[in-house]
Amino acid sequence: MIKTKTYLYNTLTKKVEEFIPNEEGRVAMYTCGPTVYHFAHIGNLRSYIMEDVLEKYLRFDGYDVKRVMNITDVGHLSSDGDTGEDKMLAGAKREHKTVMDIARFYTDAFMEDCRKLSIKIPDVVEPATNCIPEFIHMIEVLLEKGYAYTAGENVYFDTSKLNHYYVLSAQNEEELQVGVRDDVEEDSNKKNKTDFVLWFTKSKFENQELKWDSPWGTGYPGWHIECSCISMKHLGEYMDIHCGGVDNIFPHHTNEIAQSEAYTGHKWCNYWFHVNHLNTKNGKMSKSKGEFLTVSLLEEKGYDPMVYRMFCLLSHYRKPLEFTWEGLDNVVAVYESLMKKIGNLSEDGSVEEDAVAAYEMKFAEALANDINISSAITVLYDMLKDAISDASKRRLVERFDEVLSLGLTKAFEKREEKEVDAALAAYVEKMISERKAAKKEKNFARADEIRDELAAKGIELKDTREGTIWNINCSNGGRS
Ligand code: AMP
Ligand code: ZN
Repeated sequence: MIKTKTYLYNTLTKKVEEFIPNEEGRVAMYTCGPTVYHFAHIGNLRSYIMEDVLEKYLRFDGYDVKRVMNITDVGHLSSDGDTGEDKMLAGAKREHKTVMDIARFYTDAFMEDCRKLSIKIPDVVEPATNCIPEFIHMIEVLLEKGYAYTAGENVYFDTSKLNHYYVLSAQNEEELQVGVRDDVEEDSNKKNKTDFVLWFTKSKFENQELKWDSPWGTGYPGWHIECSCISMKHLGEYMDIHCGGVDNIFPHHTNEIAQSEAYTGHKWCNYWFHVNHLNTKNGKMSKSKGEFLTVSLLEEKGYDPMVYRMFCLLSHYRKPLEFTWEGLDNVVAVYESLMKKIGNLSEDGSVEEDAVAAYEMKFAEALANDINISSAITVLYDMLKDAISDASKRRLVERFDEVLSLGLTKAFEKREEKEVDAALAAYVEKMISERKAAKKEKNFARADEIRDELAAKGIELKDTREGTIWNINCSNGGRS
């Protein structure tokens, strides 16, 4: 059952509106995946963290979500406007490897980053190179319907055939310079500046490593077509929500809408969810600038990836977020004190089902307001302060962490470990004093028996001038 009405900012309508999926209780969700030519930077990962919270919130609220993500392993050029070098090829050259080796390596690295940041892997993850027949089919239909043309042996989408091309953004001609570098000449095959490549055959990118046969000659797909095809392959022709970073709004998502709706002849996706950028003081964190931070680098510097996740959760997804080391250090303190609070919860009392349901509702309502995670975290703090039983609090921490995924329940384990350690220490100390008493009574047989009994449990005793000390012998399966 759906707990509460959800309101989301929709880039398409430029307002916060009620989220109503096509099919009651079910959500078809799509995320633009990484271009696997390099490590994901923590800016890219900000987008994936926020999308992860969106998905987990929808599930928490009672929706049955199917989420699909592509892996871009071909066709993404250094400028999103189809100019420059293919990013995958550039990555392969940089590392003297093949494009497929690069793709495999950085896809695995991305998955590992997701694991470290507790980002759930979408239900379907599909690399673009798996779907060449689907791309060719969509392009054939676009040509048949008159929405595409061939020029210079490439296939282009004709944006002049649409009444409304800029459905997502209020772009104008000058703003179209986004991503176009001065040193890159314009593609003279294009009839209109905003037209984009669906299929490359003969072009200045002839050195492309991966090529496939097509009705237009051997070549490779453009970047935008992959998300339209991969989403339709797994979610059908109607989608509820499409996600990405704000830099995807134009041209990538604008082009996705153009070709998908030209292909299907109807509206494609109802809600567009865009995450604002992670910036450094020099502007957007980006790989092309060469200076970017990765999760591994944060770890090398001693930061728990959960702290970076919390750093992201504390800011609203629609606001730009500036990364600073001081900012991250502040979050370390916040995270540690939260974990301590949770670690202090005992297992006393029984779960008060009504109180749990009321807090779950408050938590859902906070997130229902355009994914307001900081208010949801306030609900968590209020709950921890409340006079409900510790057992109820533990249950709620578990439930909230299904969405926040901050590893909060690890604080329980730490407490349990501490409790086990304390119980073990008490037992060993008791045995040591029994042994001491046995020795005093010259009952050496009993004293040896105690030593053997402990040794069998992996606990070694050492008699010193200061008294008997003990340690746990790891080779014997004990803990030290
Ligand atoms: P890419 O691997 O370049 O295709 O980007 C993967 C995702 O990261 C896309 O959704 C981008 O919009 C997003 N992205 C890129 N740079 C940033 C940034 N600095 N902050 C947040 N998201 C970003
Ligand atoms: Zn995409």
